[in-house]
Amino acid sequence: MKQTTLIGGGLVGSILACFLSKNGHSVQIFERRSDPRGNDAERGRSINLALSDRGWRALEKIGLAEKVRPIAIPMKGRMIHHLDGTTNFIPYGDDNQAIYSVSRGDLNKIMIAEADEFNHTDFFFNQRCEAVDFENSTVSFRNTKTGALTTQQVGLTFGSDGAFSELRYAMQRTHNFNFSQTYEPYAYKELHIPEDAAGQWQLEKNALHIWPRQSFMMIALPNTDGSFTCTLFASYDGANGFDSIKTDADIEKYFSTHFPSAFKLMPDLVRDFKKNPTSSLVTMRCYPWVHNNFALIGDAAHAIVPFYGQGMNCGFEDVNVLFELLVENSNQEEWLEAYQQSRKPNADAIANLALYNYIEMRDLSARPDFQLRTKIEKRIAAHFPERFMTLYSMVTFSKLPYATALSKSKEQSELLDKIMHLHDIENQWESASVLKLAEEWLKEKGL
Ligand SMILES: Cc1cc2nc3c(=O)[nH]c(=O)nc-3n(C[C@H](O)[C@H](O)[C@H](O)COP(=O)(O)OP(=O)(O)OC[C@H]3O[C@@H](n4cnc5c(N)ncnc54)[C@H](O)[C@@H]3O)c2cc1C
Repeated sequence: MKQTTLIGGGLVGSILACFLSKNGHSVQIFERRSDPRGNDAERGRSINLALSDRGWRALEKIGLAEKVRPIAIPMKGRMIHHLDGTTNFIPYGDDNQAIYSVSRGDLNKIMIAEADEFNHTDFFFNQRCEAVDFENSTVSFRNTKTGALTTQQVGLTFGSDGAFSELRYAMQRTHNFNFSQTYEPYAYKELHIPEDAAGQWQLEKNALHIWPRQSFMMIALPNTDGSFTCTLFASYDGANGFDSIKTDADIEKYFSTHFPSAFKLMPDLVRDFKKNPTSSLVTMRCYPWVHNNFALIGDAAHAIVPFYGQGMNCGFEDVNVLFELLVENSNQEEWLEAYQQSRKPNADAIANLALYNYIEMRDLSARPDFQLRTKIEKRIAAHFPERFMTLYSMVTFSKLPYATALSKSKEQSELLDKIMHLHDIENQWESASVLKLAEEWLKEKGL
């Protein structure tokens, strides 16, 4: 049996453990935190995230989709909340297409429990990786409860230890390793809209809610208990930045001024705002992802900003691709090399797309010209389904590599720019001439 070590048993580490265990690897997972299934699990806030097709594909392959479905709430589109209290719903795709809100903690627990079913898989909780010695192929872990340090001899080892990966930190000191990190000038804070007295959702349940305010925004995703987890994204400083919110009165004024429709549903706003951290957002890129028998995966290889809801989905796709390569080729060096070469351009592409999507969500999504452009893009996609897909669909609902989605969307922008400049497009967008122009463009491009 092949001995494999994982550093980090978060979302990507735990699904990777399932794949490797099923494939007959003997897997040991060292996780810094305590067992989330236990009583002394660190009780986090109710934090959810959007699971989309790429993530579901990995869950399906490992046979976990049916266990995850009961905790997944479909969100069929964006519900835009304007300042005057009006809303408009923008579907993500056709009626069958949705992204799904899932609790990060519950998803992690399901995957850990699944991997733990194998008697050749062992989880070691409260074990923080502190050092990696590539020459001797050892990893040292500190027991966070007792302080004891142990050094393990390891074979194939994955760093699934997130954005601040200890394995990546060790790789940074090896020859020819490139690394960059870019902090965004904005931050986020998680907040809460509770369920109503009957335990029901106080906003439309099957939507991702957005309060776009040009340079900042709030979003909300539904939880299974009837509540919503909200996230405020704003700059650190400047007008409407976090630094401008200092006192209880400031908090109330900020929300009642900018998000009045949400404010009235947030009875614990002041307490939550003061208690919950203001967290930074960072993009991290590095290469190579493989050093000898050590490899990076998930956020450890590519931490991205959350605006496309793809960080975890991308990490799950890493696992999916890695697994396919591993099954096809028994030469470890070759499949690890193929893995990093295939994933790196896609990780870079989704990192760029995620940065762009912040602008789209906080600003463009509320603008009539952008909404018109989106409607035209969807109409073309509906008429030429084999030849044209919206960017959102390519990223969220397709198997297309992220890098292909990015390059195709740049090309498609040419057509959309042309259409948006047509005379009286506000009234003509449903006319046959728009589709004719699209068809000519598609032919010209050989599509
Ligand atoms: C605000 C926000 C919203 C997001 N929303 C979405 C979304 O809607 N959809 C989506 O797909 N993605 C989303 N993401 C991204 C997603 O959270 C990450 O991409 C995903 O968690 C990456 O999984 P991971 O397992 O690689 O890393 P992590 O989830 O960070 O897990 C790393 C694990 O390693 C452990 N660890 C860390 N250091 C050590 C160490 N030294 N030793 C041992 N263990 C260690 C940690 O305790 C943790 O359990 C969001 C991110 C943020 C910040």
